[in-house]
Amino acid sequence: MSQPDCIFCKIYRGELPATVVNRAEGFLAIEDINPKADVHVLVIPERHIDTFGDIGELSEGEAKRMLDFVAETAKAADLDEYRLMIFCGAGAGQTVFHLHWHILGGRFRGLPK
Ligand code: 5GP
Ligand code: ZN
Repeated sequence: MSQPDCIFCKIYRGELPATVVNRAEGFLAIEDINPKADVHVLVIPERHIDTFGDIGELSEGEAKRMLDFVAETAKAADLDEYRLMIFCGAGAGQTVFHLHWHILGGRFRGLPK
């Protein structure tokens, strides 16, 4: 489940620093280290799955709770309007292979690539 060398697993475990903006059982939301919008938050599930393509590994309950947590995190960041993005696979621009959502709000500075 938790991967020893995964950056986001390490952040989840508190072994690497991050600015945490929201937290719930099984989920963490942090500021992106290299923001591409006025507000750029990453939502990270505790459970390590490599990509969105492996979403079937989450139970229906986990998947629903993740979506609720994304919406709650946007609200907690005072965003009514925002973009959600997931890059699935290296060819599509994914660089960290632990599933995460990008929440992008305010002035948008282009794709996070
Ligand atoms: P991806 O391209 O995989 O969808 O997105 C990875 C995102 O994670 C990028 O936007 C990148 O700036 C962010 N990122 C990479 N390493 C770190 C880190 O150590 N801390 C934080 N907070 N964000 C990171
Ligand atoms: Zn991980």
